[in-house]
Amino acid sequence: MIVVMQPDAGESAIAAVEAKILAEGLGVHVSRGTERTLIGAIGDERKLSPAMFETLQGVERALHIVKPYKLVAREWHKASTVVKVRGIPIGGDAVQMIAGPCSVETAPQMRAAAAAVAAGGARLMRGGAFKPRTSPYAFQGAGLEGLALLKEAAGRHGLPIVTELMDVRMLDTFLREGVDVIQIGTRNMQNFDLLKEVGKVDVPVILKRGMSATISEWLMAAEYVAAGGNHRIILCERGIRTFETAYRNVLDVTAVPMLKRETHLPVIVDPSHAGGKAWLVSALASAAVAAGADGLLVEIHPNPPEAWCDADQALTPAEFTVLMRKLGAVAEAVGRSMAGVTAPASMQREGLPIV
Ligand code: PEP
Ligand code: MN
Repeated sequence: MIVVMQPDAGESAIAAVEAKILAEGLGVHVSRGTERTLIGAIGDERKLSPAMFETLQGVERALHIVKPYKLVAREWHKASTVVKVRGIPIGGDAVQMIAGPCSVETAPQMRAAAAAVAAGGARLMRGGAFKPRTSPYAFQGAGLEGLALLKEAAGRHGLPIVTELMDVRMLDTFLREGVDVIQIGTRNMQNFDLLKEVGKVDVPVILKRGMSATISEWLMAAEYVAAGGNHRIILCERGIRTFETAYRNVLDVTAVPMLKRETHLPVIVDPSHAGGKAWLVSALASAAVAAGADGLLVEIHPNPPEAWCDADQALTPAEFTVLMRKLGAVAEAVGRSMAGVTAPASMQREGLPIV
């Protein structure tokens, strides 16, 4: 049972609901979000009925949720959630592009990347300062210095920053530095202690799919974040492991409509880590937008062959601009728009190549 409190419900109303659940011998979990408080009853729900709560002060609604994930389920929240990042909506009509290099390298690299991100029309910039590398001997990221470079370069164009958090001990630093979106990578999707901590803060979280995680496991990971009170979660499909070895991962396009049905949270797609090759990015990104993705996370680099990390999959600034226009046309075809792309229909007239 989940009890949805009215946005203005006071502490005494919340306490009364808690007391009623406890009196029935069930456990209680309170998730205090910035917009509203959600109260879950834990245990044998058959003892409870929505009518027991709906007459209480401050209660908007109460309902049984059949799925194991509750707060993130569309069952109770029919409308799609829009997560705002400095006013930029993720999950609305417009498809958002988040672009930038795999990893932060140098000041000139970041400045050129930020200029390309902005010129292409993307409204948010990505860049890894702390990198989860398969080899301990590979470049591990520029760390705090990298975070500063990302902030500086993105700031020149007013772009909010998206960067990966791997270690819970860095969370305070991320908050202090004003990271706009915390990315939880595929390798940490089930790092439950990390999820619990980002669940306590009021910063949007991109939760990437574990490379071998089922939809249900992924949504349960999101539930960890929501249970802590952080309801600003964006799910990111980034390819899964299968028997196929011809490309880095298999982009699970099916996940997009499936998630849109199961959860009210926005869903974005990372075609770069899915395909692992720059030439695959355009096709995979188009498929994602056609399938209903609310946004994309794409790696670009001012000079891909020189990239310190994931060089094979980075787009050049020119390729990125062409991609944005193409995605504008794809978005339009499915009744949406591509944020930052003004005239997709003019693409054909201008004779721009479709990659
Ligand atoms: C990344 O986005 O830089 C990254 C490491 O992605 P993933 O966690 O999906 O591998
Ligand atoms: Mn990468």
